[in-house]
Amino acid sequence: MPERHEHPASERPTAPRPGGPDAGALRADCERCFALCCVAPAFAASADFAIDKPAGRACPNLQQDFRCGIHRDLRKKGFTGCTVFDCFGAGQQVSQVTFNGEDWRRNPGTARRMFEVFAVMRQIHELLWYLTEALALPAARPLHGELALLRDETARMAAGDPDAVLAVDLAGHRSRVNELLLGASELVRAEVPGARKDRRKERRGADLIGADLRGADLRGASLRGAYLIGADLRGADLRTADLIGADLRDADLRGADLTGSVFLIQSQLDAARGDAGTRIPPSLTRPAHWGTGTERAAGPARAADRRAGASGGRGSGARRAGDRARGGGRNAGPRR
Ligand code: SF4
Repeated sequence: MPERHEHPASERPTAPRPGGPDAGALRADCERCFALCCVAPAFAASADFAIDKPAGRACPNLQQDFRCGIHRDLRKKGFTGCTVFDCFGAGQQVSQVTFNGEDWRRNPGTARRMFEVFAVMRQIHELLWYLTEALALPAARPLHGELALLRDETARMAAGDPDAVLAVDLAGHRSRVNELLLGASELVRAEVPGARKDRRKERRGADLIGADLRGADLRGASLRGAYLIGADLRGADLRTADLIGADLRDADLRGADLTGSVFLIQSQLDAARGDAGTRIPPSLTRPAHWGTGTERAAGPARAADRRAGASGGRGSGARRAGDRARGGGRNAGPRR
């Protein structure tokens, strides 16, 4: 019996966790989704997605019942990227709320629109995740009022009908969200004495591909949008580091401490390597593939990929052909 299409990388929790965003609405519930992430985006063959697939066409591995026919062997068969993708619950929102349970197979007339809405909804939900996390940061209390207003506004966007969702000014909204998230991050990092004046910790957007950061004290560092592909972060102290948008594909996090890091998301963890000694925030889940920490994570750790401008596709691996619906090692949310 094939598995229901679901996140294979980790045992996804279904209940909220203390200190984390609302799991119910913002965690993928594949049982309630019409496998939108297996159909809507286009993929170009890469190390992490074995085939080319045009946008709007179902992956050939997707079965009639919306289950993935190779669920147990995704990594083995070259679909590692599928194991790290996170829709932040946008799939079930679009399937069950925006389109009221209408299945794109039974109602093919709605398919195209549904896929367009999914691409937008995924980003709205990602912003909701970050805003919810910011609201759980005690140090960001001075901004909680503004954050709550923006979160409520974003939640209203997610609840809109297809026309309303497609009319959202995503770029403008993301920019407003990003400004507040940056403020929240600064308040958190300011609690680490000297961190904000330490130029070694100001690594926003830095090229740290393959960098040797073993045992580094990165408490309070800004690693927003940093390229940490294949970086050696074994034993690094990343507590209170801002990791929003950091590309952690194949980064070695064995023994690293990520508790209290800011804006780290599941797909970043899923794209990295780690082990039982890696400490992670309570709102996230230890990726199943970490095991011994020696397995290859999603995404090639090749500098050439990043330098050629490749971005995370299905999860962090497959190269995306034109949309930002997929995050992975590098999430699609606000970065700078
Ligand atoms: S291989 Fe990936 S995209 Fe294709 S059906 Fe399975 S999970 Fe979906």
